[in-house]
Amino acid sequence: MFDLILRDATLPDGRTGQDVAVRGGKIAAIEPGLEAEAGEVIDAGGHLLSPPFVDPHFHMDATLSLGLPRMNVSGTLLEGIALWGELRPTLTREALVERALRYCDLAVSKGLLAVRSHVDVSDPRLVTAEALIEVRERVAPYLELQLVAFPQDGYFRAAGAEAALTRSLDMGLDIVGGIPHFERTMEDGARSVAALCRIAADRGLPVDMHCDETDDPLSRHVETLAAETIRHGLQGRVAGSHLSSMHSMDNYYVSKLIPLMAEAQMAAIPNPLINIMLQGRHDTYPKRRGLTRIPELMAAGIPVGLGQDCVLDPWYSMGSGDLLDVAHMALHATQMGSGVEKRALFDAVTVNSARIMGLEGYGLEVGCHADMVLLQARDPAEAIRLRPNRLLVLRRGRVLAETAPEVSRLTLEGRPDSVDPPDYAPRNAI
Ligand SMILES: [Zn+2]
Repeated sequence: MFDLILRDATLPDGRTGQDVAVRGGKIAAIEPGLEAEAGEVIDAGGHLLSPPFVDPHFHMDATLSLGLPRMNVSGTLLEGIALWGELRPTLTREALVERALRYCDLAVSKGLLAVRSHVDVSDPRLVTAEALIEVRERVAPYLELQLVAFPQDGYFRAAGAEAALTRSLDMGLDIVGGIPHFERTMEDGARSVAALCRIAADRGLPVDMHCDETDDPLSRHVETLAAETIRHGLQGRVAGSHLSSMHSMDNYYVSKLIPLMAEAQMAAIPNPLINIMLQGRHDTYPKRRGLTRIPELMAAGIPVGLGQDCVLDPWYSMGSGDLLDVAHMALHATQMGSGVEKRALFDAVTVNSARIMGLEGYGLEVGCHADMVLLQARDPAEAIRLRPNRLLVLRRGRVLAETAPEVSRLTLEGRPDSVDPPDYAPRNAI
């Protein structure tokens, strides 16, 4: 006797007609034609059943603040940082908590159940850290939130940032962040990477830095982060976020850099939506895309997880909480259009990011947590193409969100009377 059986699901690995049984909040069986009783039986109708989406790079202290105190006119990263600096002194814990909780509602409705958020610790009041720690506790029953101590204005550049970052870690933030390309000089950037890796090593914490979010082909902070990872014995615990400069670097240099990153067991977290928008701003034409070298990193065995970075904030006036939007942009900007590449991008918004965040019990395997999303699509490639409705979002076997299927009614003479979008994919398009 099970608590729940989802019948006739398609799994991301291509298995069809699978029955997935849940007992005690965990996946207890996966097999076709399961002969068993359950408290509840749901017909998955052949739709894709996936583990939940995971966002390994986000800013929950800034989300949903678009327009406060004004809009970003130039659209650049630097005006976004300046605008956030104007907003920061006016932030209150109550407003931060309310915006973050509202965003988490949206995230859950999109099947996004784990988020790593950078938290700006530049303001010595640390109201952001206080608020996000409260949010981490309040959403814990439905969303796993990891918090990175992020010195937005520069670890050495901003007065008081060193002490504030230490204090925020003492308060309970989970991960050491950084922003070496925003320090005053390349040397200061390198020193900040070394100092922050030392702190992580001393405290036994992971590292996740904004690293080389620039179009500068000569920026060298990715190399420094890899080298300091090895020097401090942090292999497997360090992620580099953005890595945009790798787009502009000389190919010979990258042929040396990627193996160094692999040696350091670094993870890469590109943010395609925001970087296609922010980078290349000093170019006329050709205009660079500013997205790091995703297929080459994947080919080297480096874990690549895709993040949203921003939703409706000073840096990005778009975003929807949908990680399939992120995969969709990555697919186009990197030209990863083959079936195998689409599947790799689906992994980059699910299992890869779960691995980077160290999520326990994640996955569609017997014994894993019964955390699952039923999508109105037939396979991962179609999920990226359609960014379809999340018919069901489950955590520990409990339904957190439901969305009705998108079906359009037609009144066309001699034509079908309805359109169900997944039906339109040619069956041999694998
Ligand atoms: Zn970021």
